[in-house]
Amino acid sequence: MSTFQHIKPAGKAQFKDRYTTKAAELLTPWEEGKKGDIAIIGAPLSKPSISHSGASFAPDAIRRCLNSFTTYNIERGTDLADDQKTIIDFGDISMHPTSIEESHQRIYESTKAATETNAAPFTIILGGDHSITTSTVKAIKETKGTVGIIQFDAHHDLRNTEDGGPTNGTPFRRLLEEGHLKGEHLIQIGIRNYANAKAYHDYAIEQGVTVYTMKDVRQQQMTKLIQKSLTQLDPQVDTIYLSVDMDVLDQAFAPGCPAIGPGGMHPDTLTEAVQTALQHQKVHTMDIVEIDPTLDIRDMTSRVASLLILNALTK
Ligand code: CA
Repeated sequence: MSTFQHIKPAGKAQFKDRYTTKAAELLTPWEEGKKGDIAIIGAPLSKPSISHSGASFAPDAIRRCLNSFTTYNIERGTDLADDQKTIIDFGDISMHPTSIEESHQRIYESTKAATETNAAPFTIILGGDHSITTSTVKAIKETKGTVGIIQFDAHHDLRNTEDGGPTNGTPFRRLLEEGHLKGEHLIQIGIRNYANAKAYHDYAIEQGVTVYTMKDVRQQQMTKLIQKSLTQLDPQVDTIYLSVDMDVLDQAFAPGCPAIGPGGMHPDTLTEAVQTALQHQKVHTMDIVEIDPTLDIRDMTSRVASLLILNALTK
């Protein structure tokens, strides 16, 4: 008998249960011609963040957290592994070390290339800070046509670009100003008190953006709010994009966000929202942004992101 029988490859789990499949085992590196149920691509950029951010570490953390989940959905009685569900993983976009504009260009080009492969009917972009969304939406517009966006966020992200250039406070402003998005095609959900300037709420209303505050979220059923949003966007756009800024969650559930705050959403409400939206045939893309794993506590915030990926796979 070999004396090496108790040595395992470095980095592998201590324990393997013969009946348990870890969700991370569903990740399949992309190859030409390979098809899957959903696709993921990492956009590890956080240099344009207004506040200190290590969101560039999030794509790795979110993938790693898939090891904390099994593939079995007890409520549905289904198993993602038994159903042979796969997550096509395009890997991470390599960023320019100093040029934010060049990095944004690479995110645009890579998102376009990834979605043009038609490797999966649904694509998830893992940020990164929220500045990436201008680039990804531009790419989706070119591959799928007119884009409608449902944005989950504590903030409008409609800041002027004169003060700081293309920061994580500006993605939707830039999309509107550059003509890639119409105001009436943007629905913001979860906007929070004392987290935005009046000028940006005024700008949102002027542009025809639909704004639902946290009070709206508390008073209306999330399922109904999403159905109303989908009904509003459906006749006007070719594709619907979900932009999930994790700081929409209350600080109690999202300690890993640079802009945490009280009065936010419960993860179950966000999960319900995304789950409802995923049933719609025009919902093809989602981004998950603003998780800084270096600030997170026991990967609490990244785990919510991993759960959203699994829900997308259960669609
Ligand atoms: Ca944001």
